[in-house]
Amino acid sequence: MKALVFQGPGQTSWQDVPDPGIKDAADAVIRVEAVTICGTDLHIIKGDVPEMAPGRVLGHEAVGEVVEVGSDVRTVRPGDRVLISCIAACGRCGFCRENRYGQCRGGGGWVLGHLIDGTQAECVRVPFADLSVHPLPSAVTSEDAVLLADIFPTGYEVGVLNGRVRPGDTVVVVGAGPIGLATIATAQLYTPGRIIAVDVAESRLEAARSMGADATVSAEEDPEQFVMDLTDGLGADVVVEAVGVPEAFEQCTRIVRPGGHVANIGVHGKPAALHLEDLWIKDVTITTGLVDTHSTPLLLRMMAAGRLPAASAMVTHRFELGQMEEAYEVFSGAAHTGALKVVLGGPKHDEVSVAA
Ligand SMILES: [Zn+2]
Ligand SMILES: [Zn+2]
Repeated sequence: MKALVFQGPGQTSWQDVPDPGIKDAADAVIRVEAVTICGTDLHIIKGDVPEMAPGRVLGHEAVGEVVEVGSDVRTVRPGDRVLISCIAACGRCGFCRENRYGQCRGGGGWVLGHLIDGTQAECVRVPFADLSVHPLPSAVTSEDAVLLADIFPTGYEVGVLNGRVRPGDTVVVVGAGPIGLATIATAQLYTPGRIIAVDVAESRLEAARSMGADATVSAEEDPEQFVMDLTDGLGADVVVEAVGVPEAFEQCTRIVRPGGHVANIGVHGKPAALHLEDLWIKDVTITTGLVDTHSTPLLLRMMAAGRLPAASAMVTHRFELGQMEEAYEVFSGAAHTGALKVVLGGPKHDEVSVAA
């Protein structure tokens, strides 16, 4: 089969690799129908994620059709259309038993496209299939579902829940890429007073408004002043970092009000300064986190019921699976292509799975 192989920092290739097979009785092998590229993949390619070994297949977000399952798999069967979560879960370790699948110590966690071969391929082996894939209702398209593999649960759990968004809050989301937009979409489930989006790109600020942001400000203007003006000089109740660079994180800690929450989602490749000389007296809570995906079943139900903004509004570019390298070019050049989420495969394949 073909897959996108990481060859070391700055290098990838769409090439022939051996077909995956069942290695463990809890595995499933899934034919990929729709797959997307994540900002995290760009961090990997840059060399920010040292655990990613050359020769490994990239990708951790996909929808596909189960083609084979191991003898221990109970909940999915060949032919089922499933969402492949970015997080796998052994279900047995202490962290899994607290729903903290991202920290799984039993061989799960973020393994796909990181510690084992990932989803940017024609087929993928998924460990602990019972707990790592979600059968999809027919009401949810593959294109919408693929955005539930990572960005929606990440925005919701690591941004909205960790940030403890409450009714009436002023919420600032720094970075209006796909994760920031998913945060804006899911923050509205808690009826905040206002949501302010910060980004450098006007196209992303426009997307933020269409996802429900009440106000937007260019990162090149003065977001701190903008937020202070709107909050009588107090600062925001919740500030979500969805960029992953030191300047953005430090800005978040300047925008938050005393007693407020800063929720970091960004993948950081460099140290950021923690200005305790200003923060020690402010009763501020700062959280970090890798998504657990414990909210995926809930988000899936909400999406099926039409209670989440149409995920497909975030999909700006569509490709065939074999156009992986082209899709990466468009996604990594977001500043001039305006790309938010790119989906490979997609609707064409839906018809195939529905007919089958
Ligand atoms: Zn991702
Ligand atoms: Zn576990």
